[in-house]
Amino acid sequence: MIYKWTISVLFLMASFSVNSVEQQMAEVNSAAKLKIVTTFSILADLFKNVGGQYVEVHTLVDWDEDAHVFHPSPADVRRLTKADLLVLNGLGFEGWLERLISSSNFNGKLVTAASGVDVIKRLEDKESDHHDHHDHHLDVQGFDPHAWHSLSAVKKYIDNILNSLVELDKAHQAQYQHNASRYLSELDKLESETKLRMSKLSEAQRNIVIPHNAFAYLARDFGLHVYSLKGISTEAEASAAQIAQVIRKIKSENIHAVFTETTGDDRLMKLVQQETDARMGGALISGALSKKLAPTYLDMMRYNIEKIIHALSSRE
Ligand SMILES: [Zn+2]
Repeated sequence: MIYKWTISVLFLMASFSVNSVEQQMAEVNSAAKLKIVTTFSILADLFKNVGGQYVEVHTLVDWDEDAHVFHPSPADVRRLTKADLLVLNGLGFEGWLERLISSSNFNGKLVTAASGVDVIKRLEDKESDHHDHHDHHLDVQGFDPHAWHSLSAVKKYIDNILNSLVELDKAHQAQYQHNASRYLSELDKLESETKLRMSKLSEAQRNIVIPHNAFAYLARDFGLHVYSLKGISTEAEASAAQIAQVIRKIKSENIHAVFTETTGDDRLMKLVQQETDARMGGALISGALSKKLAPTYLDMMRYNIEKIIHALSSRE
């Protein structure tokens, strides 16, 4: 009897101490995690893939929100003040970021994910007859910021993320490198599969129409031609001349792949569709991951690629 009692007390004591050790470890782990703030959902997903269990990632512009027209909250300012690292896309994408940084006293490390990618210059703004002065801060650099729609450019994003992590946390270098190379091989696989599928399209099948010009990088990678109602930003309004030009293009080229965007207002595209009888190819995901349709970057790329190939293949 006494023997039995002693055993259960010992057992209880042992489980108490295991619990408290586990609890302490969890606390240490959470305190030790690097606090990362990213500007938008795509960077948050990429960062989690490389940082794994050693990072705690918060995104300023959430899943399903448009980063072109974001207004930071006081909570965002507080998050940034405590962050070890801030990851931005760069190329003029986050016009609102400078003010946020200066009001938060952020003094962590700053990483530009798109640094070093083969950029596309913004040609269409010089030709367009409308002047969007609100958008002026984006014009300074003259680049198209949507480089994440290029699988090969995102390999550079992963390199930049990896380097920033290793610099900050040398102790887990091997793990970060392992995570990055596993992710890079997934990007490679999707890129080569897509190249093969796109190579089967004829020249006449290679036109797509979208609301705002977010897909120039994807078009460059796979040899497609993109026509859009608006320029680089969703902030500016489409002009009547731009809309008329796109309608003429759809009719003259018999374009079948006319898309809306999951985060955008699709009234203008509906108008274009009525004018042309074009079949709608569905909604593409442009600047924010979608909780429902594509919660990760790879999901988003697969989703868009499937939609595009399906719509392009429907034209003879
Ligand atoms: Zn955009």
